[in-house]
Amino acid sequence: MTLLNRTQRLTEENEKLKDWISTSNNYELENLGYGAFAYVYKPKIKATKPPHWICTNCFDNRIASILQNKPKEGYSCPRCKLALPARYIGNKQPE
Ligand SMILES: [Zn+2]
Repeated sequence: MTLLNRTQRLTEENEKLKDWISTSNNYELENLGYGAFAYVYKPKIKATKPPHWICTNCFDNRIASILQNKPKEGYSCPRCKLALPARYIGNKQPE
């Protein structure tokens, strides 16, 4: 790998990390009940997205995967299948 390629790769990685830091700063980890955790969207400036939760597992891999709700079943991550069953979080909704 040439020095130029390496510099280019490091610059791209640096941009991705900056993007992730900027994204992840809009979320706070919360206990939704009975130890069911999610990252809750809490933008510091003005909200540009509707209220939502993202997956703790994917968050650790620097991916903001939005949890999807299935009535009576609860929330789950479409990416890694992490589940937050309705029996733990009740009727709680992102707000
Ligand atoms: Zn996930």
